[in-house]
Amino acid sequence: MKTAIITGITGQDGSYLAEYLLEKGYEVHGFIRRSSSFNTKRIDHIYKDPHEKNTKLFLHYNDLTDSTNIIRLIQQIQPDEIYNLAAQSHVKVSFELPEYTANSDALGTLRILEAIHLLGLEKKVKFYQASTSELYGKVQEIPQNEKTPFYPRSPYAVAKLYAYWITVNYREAYNMFACNGILFNHESERRGETFVTRKITRAATRILVGNQKKLYLGNLSAKRDWGYAKDYVKGMWMILQQERPDDYVLATGETHEVREFCEKTFETLGIEIKWQGEGINEKGIIKKIDRNKTKEIIEKLKEKHPDLKEFKINTEHLKEGQEIIAVDPKYFRPTEVDILLGDPTKAKKQLGWEPETSFEELVKIMTEYDLGLAIKEKHRNEWIKE
Ligand code: NDP
Ligand code: GDP
Repeated sequence: MKTAIITGITGQDGSYLAEYLLEKGYEVHGFIRRSSSFNTKRIDHIYKDPHEKNTKLFLHYNDLTDSTNIIRLIQQIQPDEIYNLAAQSHVKVSFELPEYTANSDALGTLRILEAIHLLGLEKKVKFYQASTSELYGKVQEIPQNEKTPFYPRSPYAVAKLYAYWITVNYREAYNMFACNGILFNHESERRGETFVTRKITRAATRILVGNQKKLYLGNLSAKRDWGYAKDYVKGMWMILQQERPDDYVLATGETHEVREFCEKTFETLGIEIKWQGEGINEKGIIKKIDRNKTKEIIEKLKEKHPDLKEFKINTEHLKEGQEIIAVDPKYFRPTEVDILLGDPTKAKKQLGWEPETSFEELVKIMTEYDLGLAIKEKHRNEWIKE
């Protein structure tokens, strides 16, 4: 039985990776941050009371800014694999918290690598670093592969650039099995709610049930290569199972505009959008509502989830011509990454990894999940009002 450490286990990827490794029979040690409110929502379903027999998931308090804690935990756990997924992962927030982002994302990676080195575990431990397509930033070529030059465009990306290179350096300097997965954006129903995809699916479903009036976004023209997070965590594991350590791009090889993500989400709910105006005056307007489609998706969801059956949803508040999307410049970034499009050829050839979920399926999975949440919220709000 192998033992793995996952930093950032309470995040989107950490939770899927934990499920995946537990299914494979791993003993998993997740590092979590102390928080005054619960931050384990994404892993509660796999966590068992440690007093029970056959527990395979253990949680430990950690922060990537605390070297001694990292050294002590690695020494105690003696893992075979470490997946470093912890990070201040939001690009826009990194402009507000540049120093903290560098400390956790750049130096945090160094602290783990140096702990492995210091403890003399170079031959035992395999290390995975969560690198990112944000490294390409102001892109030098399209599509981007493992050889494309980097040009980071945010404090987040610059911190991740350090983490990328320190991983390569420890591999070369100390012969460590240390790898970078350069992952393009990957989303899911567990994605943080301030990332653009989840923000859109959360808002669109709330607008449908009447819990929100409008969705405010920043740059609608940005293009991203969006995949499904569940597919990507398999790739992380595959990277560490190779004979030699190396760096790999994981991506879908397709790119879509933020505008298109909005259109597809509302389309899934039976609402056709048209765009009017330009720049900060651009707006998304309801062009047509297919009320039968709307009814159908709600009914189908109720069949799948009987606990939603009792809730009645009325969409009469929605009218053709109504403005439901607007631009708020506060969501613009000081420096933007206009387009990301990955070339996953190396991962396909060497790892046998391929994304399994299409863009359309991804939008559908996220929208349906958030529709369930929106229906429950609507019911709860009405109950509170009464
Ligand atoms: P999330 O933001 O969902 O999760 C980040 C995790 O890191 C959370 O568990 C968070 O804890 C933890 N964390 C944050 N700061 C610290 C710290 N200082 N010390 C310890 N733990 C910390 O990110 P994702 O799951 O989406 O991404 C996983 C990794 O992959 C990240 O490193 C991200 O930068 C990178 N990445 C993500 C991509 C994506 O599209 N999702 C694309 C490419 C790379 P808490 O829950 O308490 O906040
Ligand atoms: P990122 O690629 O890691 O920055 O992931 P995000 O989901 O945060 O952003 C993807 C793209 O959507 C970026 O180019 C953003 O500028 C753009 N975007 C447009 N409006 C918004 C918004 O309201 N929130 C976020 N997070 N991004 C937005």
